[in-house]
Amino acid sequence: MQKTMTEQEILSGFDDAIRENQIFACYQPQYNHSTGRMTGAEALMRWNHPAFGRQYPADFIPVLEKNGLIQRADLHVFETVCRFQRECLDAQIPVVPVSFNISRHDIFERDYIGEIEKIREKYDIPVKYLRAEITESSAVGGTELVSSAIRQLHDAGYIVEMDDFGSGYSSLNALKDLDVDIIKLDMNFLSGDVGGRGGAIVSAMVQMAKWLKTPTIAEGVETVEQADYMKSIGCNYIQGYLYSRPVTGEQMIETLKRTNLEPTAPALKLLQPMDAEKFWNPDSLETLIFSNYVGAACIFSYENGHIEMLRVNQKYVHELGMNTTEKEIIHSNPWDNVGPENRALYEKTIRRAIQSSDEESCETWRTFCSKCCGEDKVCIRTHMRVIGKAGNQYIFYAMIQNVTAEKRNYALLFDSERRFRFASEQANVYAWEYAFGTKQMRPCFRCMRDLHLPPVLENYPDSAIEMGIFPPDYADMYRDWIRQLEAGREHIEGIIPLTVGRVPFHVRYTTEFDENGRPLKAYGSATMVVDGERAKSA
Ligand code: C2E
Ligand code: CA
Ligand code: CA
Repeated sequence: MQKTMTEQEILSGFDDAIRENQIFACYQPQYNHSTGRMTGAEALMRWNHPAFGRQYPADFIPVLEKNGLIQRADLHVFETVCRFQRECLDAQIPVVPVSFNISRHDIFERDYIGEIEKIREKYDIPVKYLRAEITESSAVGGTELVSSAIRQLHDAGYIVEMDDFGSGYSSLNALKDLDVDIIKLDMNFLSGDVGGRGGAIVSAMVQMAKWLKTPTIAEGVETVEQADYMKSIGCNYIQGYLYSRPVTGEQMIETLKRTNLEPTAPALKLLQPMDAEKFWNPDSLETLIFSNYVGAACIFSYENGHIEMLRVNQKYVHELGMNTTEKEIIHSNPWDNVGPENRALYEKTIRRAIQSSDEESCETWRTFCSKCCGEDKVCIRTHMRVIGKAGNQYIFYAMIQNVTAEKRNYALLFDSERRFRFASEQANVYAWEYAFGTKQMRPCFRCMRDLHLPPVLENYPDSAIEMGIFPPDYADMYRDWIRQLEAGREHIEGIIPLTVGRVPFHVRYTTEFDENGRPLKAYGSATMVVDGERAKSA
């Protein structure tokens, strides 16, 4: 007999259901489609009601959520899973990691992760045999709570999977914001066959996941075509009716005894040639993502020193900050505006990226020339990685950042400092600089020569005080100066007798701040006090 229960029947039957294990877990195995081996399983809640028969989550979980009962149900399922794993461990049956579902309602309530940890400890299950599944949509309307749950799960050692990824465009943001270890793509969310739009969406998702180095599991895979397609785009892990329906614990144990296991390789080799052709198609999802969801990016090909720009997005043009267009960039030779040194550096980075299959970066200067503004130089920081290969030709994806202003500031600072030092030599000034972050003091040559200082004094000012440069009765005052400068004071000056000879010097400090207004360095100078000045300060 099978009947869908009413809300009233669910609520009145719930206590018995927990007590009598009417609510329990079924297991759906996950397989590696390349090897045919089992890699894990997901625990799915079931309710065998004595009068109404087998109940499925869609029919009763929403009622439990609405009435604040889901936490108890989920903890009960979690405990069932722990008991199952303990049984396998004790009977020396092969063990696979089992994923358990966490409802958004679970983590709204107090210390859910603390509760599952107590249960896990009770059954003494190594954390690697349990994996948490969190639904991406539970992050909608505030990722705070989910992020902190993920953090807690990570702290406890759990691998965290993002469930139902791809159920909406919010996914792209969720992927960036949530620190998950595995992504589950649900084939049911993909309309149409794998050859059509659904396939394009899924391949873009897998590609995105790869860029984030996150392995993917395909769920709801029902046909060989779907599984083969997933494999072809680099997602080997499959869960779905094709391999197995959810089965009871007893059936699962039989399967485990027979099965060849393999660890769900965290060390997946993620790089696979991608279907770069999608990037040509202005209507493809890849194009949509490329144009709208990523920063300043370009795609180029590289073959034996020859580089060709294939695509740039609008943000790329904007980031260059030059009077140029997408079309001009594509049709120009990229090496034209790079000098030989910078070209060598860029090519070296390209070769590194080919070798490592990983992201590599460099900074290069480029000269641009435009009719209205004349010539200008910009410094571009590039992060690149290989996304495809055909023969000797490599396809690269690169993100850029215009760091010219940053570079110019450094150059300017460097220059002014050099001039300042030079001037101080001429004007009988002792000069030095002090970096707040490192507590390092760098003296000018006169300081080094006259006071026998090393080029860098660590742990300033204490080191200088110990050397006897400041008389003991001035030491505390001087330490306080440094504290004040560190706290953001822009300027301090006063007269301090220096060295054992207690020669009065006029000491001045000026602070330099970083772009966030935090003190970066203090520039100090000391000039010998002339008689008039001493009289004035006295
Ligand atoms: P889910 O976590 O996405 O679970 C996968 C669902 O897809 C399961 O439905 C599973 O039986 C079904 N499925 C597996 N392979 C295929 C396939 O090849 N084709 C199709 N069409 N479906 C397939 P189920 O067991 O009815 O669970 C539905 C949802 O209920 C789950 O979706 C999950 O969100 C929730 N749920 C299940 N167990 C629990 C639990 O213990 N706690 C909580 N909080 N939620 C649970
Ligand atoms: Ca799930
Ligand atoms: Ca799912």
